[in-house]
Amino acid sequence: MKYLNSKVILKDSKIKGPTVAIFAGVHGDEISGVRALDYLIPKIEIKAGKVYFVYANLKAIKQDKRFIEYNLNRCFLDKQKKEMKNTLEGKTAKQLMLVLKKCDYVLDLHSSPNQDDPFVLCEKHCLDFVSCFPVPRVVMGTIVTHPGASDGYLVNNGKIGFCLESGPLKSKKSVDLAKKSVINFLRKLKVIDGVEEVFKKKKFYFAKPFYTVKNGSIKLVKKFKDFQKLKKKTLIGYDGETPVYLEKNDIVLFPGTTIVKCKEIKI
Ligand SMILES: [Zn+2]
Repeated sequence: MKYLNSKVILKDSKIKGPTVAIFAGVHGDEISGVRALDYLIPKIEIKAGKVYFVYANLKAIKQDKRFIEYNLNRCFLDKQKKEMKNTLEGKTAKQLMLVLKKCDYVLDLHSSPNQDDPFVLCEKHCLDFVSCFPVPRVVMGTIVTHPGASDGYLVNNGKIGFCLESGPLKSKKSVDLAKKSVINFLRKLKVIDGVEEVFKKKKFYFAKPFYTVKNGSIKLVKKFKDFQKLKKKTLIGYDGETPVYLEKNDIVLFPGTTIVKCKEIKI
């Protein structure tokens, strides 16, 4: 297939095994995943199954922008919303969903402007795999708070999907963490040789939407950090004229883009 806005590299062992997709650059300014794939693709030798390595949003990567016309990570939906359908990212997602449909697993590499500590997003049936990611936090529930993500697309089809937030946007540490995560994940799946490292110590969170934005975005009153726990009822920002509050003990997630609130949960 000729891809409109993506580069897809298939490595096939021709031996029975899982089909995996590793995505990077869904958000074009989050280059840690892109750098990790640049490094890994020539080196990785697939021993079983096949792996699609995907540079998802080439134009946004080139321009160092989150997206060109629409957030690609909301477009992986069989029924796309009217406003995304004819955008570059809407069309990009349509092509990449054809790749995802063939896959049993996806790992989508992201990084974050609000966060030093990395974390992984997944849903409950994917928890067996989280020990292969060297991150201290796991967030569930984003299939509801952030519909249209690549990992959510697989999860909605009964498969396994992860979104890795590997740390600050443009740090070497994020690149190294993304590399390590890909290698460990593929080892766990026995797609490449080697024994996976196990990172057991995790805190688990559940994310819930707490407010539906009416005016495009909430204007934050100050900078909030991911996983910042609020000591009291706190004004987060304004949606047009309307003040938006979070309650005592709520934990803030994605304050720069879509704000959701989290609760820590025991697993
Ligand atoms: Zn992202």
